[in-house]
Amino acid sequence: MGKALDRIRIQTGDITKLDVDAIVNAANTSLLGGGGVDGAIHRAAGRELEFECRMLDGCNVGDAKITKGYKLPARHIIHTVGPVWQGGGRGEAELLASCYVRSLELAAANDCRSVAFPAISTGVYRYPKDAATEIAVGTVSMIIEQKTMPETVIFCCFDEHMAELYQRTVAALRKG
Ligand code: ADP
Repeated sequence: MGKALDRIRIQTGDITKLDVDAIVNAANTSLLGGGGVDGAIHRAAGRELEFECRMLDGCNVGDAKITKGYKLPARHIIHTVGPVWQGGGRGEAELLASCYVRSLELAAANDCRSVAFPAISTGVYRYPKDAATEIAVGTVSMIIEQKTMPETVIFCCFDEHMAELYQRTVAALRKG
């Protein structure tokens, strides 16, 4: 796992500002925009994003779809739908892991060398942050270990507290 962890970066800030091949959006099943990071991405990308999203016919929980980045510095937006936390007995962990797997598949299929993820499901969808972070880091490192693309994965945290949680999780995985 060590080599894969070297391809992971943790940053704090607004994901809409990142100049990467793809940013991931924590969307809802309609793909027509919402609050949180989804609203920020739609505002920053412009109305054309919504027009493209309308043609995608929504997205299932745990799945992902890709669009252009429009006014964003990022070339693409990968829209994935995380699970709403309902106590952990409704397949939430598998669905959250699937968001990362499907997003990385789309990134690789579209030749994205760099991709940035927000902390999917940890806002309005109320997934416990420590458990969500373990799934995010564990799933991404397992997948990129087996592949050359994307070369770099950024976890873009909205605040320092979240970034520290990601740092601790990566450090724990390094120790094995
Ligand atoms: P969800 O509905 O999947 O929970 P949210 O957008 O409510 O999605 O929250 C997901 C995470 O994204 C939260 O940790 C939140 O703090 C963070 N977030 C919100 N806005 C941004 C942004 N502009 N850039 C990066 N992360 C953001």
